[in-house]
Amino acid sequence: MTAPSRLALVPFVSVANMMRLVHHIGLERVLVELAAEVEADFRRWPEFDKTPRVASHSAVGVIELMPTSDGETYGFKYVNGHPKNMREGLQTVTAFGLLADVATGYPLLLSEMTLLTALRTAATSAMAAKWLAPKGARVMALIGNGAQSEFQALAFKAICGIAEVRLYDIDPAATAKCAANLAGSGLRVVPCRSAEAAIEGAQIITTCTADKAYATILSDNMVGAGVHLNAIGGDCPGKTELAPGILARSSVFVEYPDQTRIEGEIQQMPADFPVTELWQVITGQAPGRQSAAQVTLFDGVGFAIEDFAALRYVLGRLKGTGFYDELDMIADPDEPRDLYGMLMRAG
Ligand code: NAD
Repeated sequence: MTAPSRLALVPFVSVANMMRLVHHIGLERVLVELAAEVEADFRRWPEFDKTPRVASHSAVGVIELMPTSDGETYGFKYVNGHPKNMREGLQTVTAFGLLADVATGYPLLLSEMTLLTALRTAATSAMAAKWLAPKGARVMALIGNGAQSEFQALAFKAICGIAEVRLYDIDPAATAKCAANLAGSGLRVVPCRSAEAAIEGAQIITTCTADKAYATILSDNMVGAGVHLNAIGGDCPGKTELAPGILARSSVFVEYPDQTRIEGEIQQMPADFPVTELWQVITGQAPGRQSAAQVTLFDGVGFAIEDFAALRYVLGRLKGTGFYDELDMIADPDEPRDLYGMLMRAG
């Protein structure tokens, strides 16, 4: 049997190798570089194929495929969202993804994306806040202290200069875990007993809770003038975090409206509720924050272009590290039409 050609061997980044890569580069540096990569792809937004993600819903969660292409490279992510998993000792969100060469259709990279999703979500949130949050914001409330939370805190520190995070979760054990993980990070960490206490003095409020329900993590009277809201936990039909009254008096910024109207906080609002696409703020085609009193809301649901940027970043950063395996994933007969012959010669 002949060995597969180099082109047919696909670099595969396991969870163990993703951890090695992140430690090799440094976590905060990864977040900063990822944010730059995502922002660069938002700047060339019109070049990408875009479609709302393909979702398969069940009573307990969702499984989604998130594809996009820039004409040279194609990418997709497989991701789930199962809020009840955590109580069973499983991750709420797990993911893996692939990049492929549009010219040949051959895969270029297969990677774990559970860690990479937490990294890219945090990088995207902080990148959005860089454009929308009040200048000089130093205090962030972080409501929902699960798997995403430390990544969010560190991205806002590294990218937006946040100095204090005020933590709240309905489960005090989650807050204790988050506080312990962030000790020594350089952030002032303040565990709180209620969402009201957590938002005291905060210029940025991040909600990253998981509940398959129209939840009200923040009610209308809790959000004061001038605050920036980063709502990432409402990312599925029937799963939201904010009272509709907050949306009504916020300037709402989204990734891809066709997807966010199905999945985001704005699913609670009429179909023509006005939103601004974040890429247009970044390219100067639409205004971001215009006044100190304005409430800005990034209704982040996670879009395929962010995963594409993250996978391309990983592929670029892998070179010379050896932090990957090579998968014999593509059948590669010597004579392309002799697939059958290849199979039979192996018998
Ligand atoms: P997780 O299950 O690890 O943590 C969620 C936390 O929320 C838990 O600690 C839970 O106790 C807490 N919580 C639930 N209801 C609450 C409430 N009413 N008030 C305060 N805390 C509450 O989940 P995770 O991986 O951290 O993900 C958090 C959310 O972010 C999920 O909904 C997930 O689907 C979403 N998410 C969004 C994106 C995106 O791109 N927008 C990416 C990844 C995850």
